[in-house]
Amino acid sequence: MRFPIKTFFLMGLLAASSLPAYAKLNVVATTPDLGSIAREVGGDRVEVTSLARGTEDPHFVDAKPSFIRILNQADAVIEGGADLEVGWLPPLVLNARNPKIQLGQPGRIVAAEVIRLLEVPTGPIDRSLGDVHPFGNPHFTLDPLNGKLIAGRIKERLCMLSAPDCPVFTANAKQFEEKIDSRLALWQKQMAPLRGTKVVTYHKSYSYLAERFGLQVLNTIEPKPGIPPSAAHARDLVAQMKGAGVALILLEPNHERKTPAFLSQETGARVVLIPSMVGGAKEAGDYLALFEYIVKAMLEAMKERQP
Ligand SMILES: [Zn+2]
Repeated sequence: MRFPIKTFFLMGLLAASSLPAYAKLNVVATTPDLGSIAREVGGDRVEVTSLARGTEDPHFVDAKPSFIRILNQADAVIEGGADLEVGWLPPLVLNARNPKIQLGQPGRIVAAEVIRLLEVPTGPIDRSLGDVHPFGNPHFTLDPLNGKLIAGRIKERLCMLSAPDCPVFTANAKQFEEKIDSRLALWQKQMAPLRGTKVVTYHKSYSYLAERFGLQVLNTIEPKPGIPPSAAHARDLVAQMKGAGVALILLEPNHERKTPAFLSQETGARVVLIPSMVGGAKEAGDYLALFEYIVKAMLEAMKERQP
């Protein structure tokens, strides 16, 4: 066979721009939720490392020195954004000295960019108050539909980073979206009896979950995100919870148990330990399993509450 010189040149260019078949993209996710979605989209073409553990507070992750080496070798970093990781990620990225993961590069994926954030402050932001949600609520992965949007953004960027694998990423993302749609329909059916149930949460971790499943978050145990409760706030809560008939207190694994136990004792509301991220409970090992677990835990708690 004879090819014109130009064709050879083009083939050479294509070969040079594609990775060898065995090279997987090194993807680093700040949280296990983002890591799980990245695994769904990337499949066997990516190696995913999640920095935070599912039982940790994603605002205050223990930044190990080993994270710098992991970030140094990353082809892409996926972060939640909206200041979720502002307390720990920027110095790690700075020290990792990796041009591929700088802001504005295809290898820096900021999930918040594709999300309609809840609780965006309307007035001036006063960080001196210690509010860790200055740009709105960054715990958006707890709405499965946001998981789909994040998968879409990850797919776009992985396609930019490895064009030959793009058809695989596209097919994986589509499959993930279909799984979410079919599971979400079932979860909403199961959770239908809980619509309108009044809950109190520790941190504002479950706002997106509450919105998706029709729960009413009356108040939070933290007076502001990141601020520990005072005795006066706890007393106010007791009165509010009794008045409104709060059924459940949703508690993340990374918070103290004393205040929720006190509130439960005073009001009769039941404390439900709910993982706020993938890996927050042993059975919540991936993104879909996280919701399976949450739905089951909430249904069980409501059942046990009834006489
Ligand atoms: Zn938060």
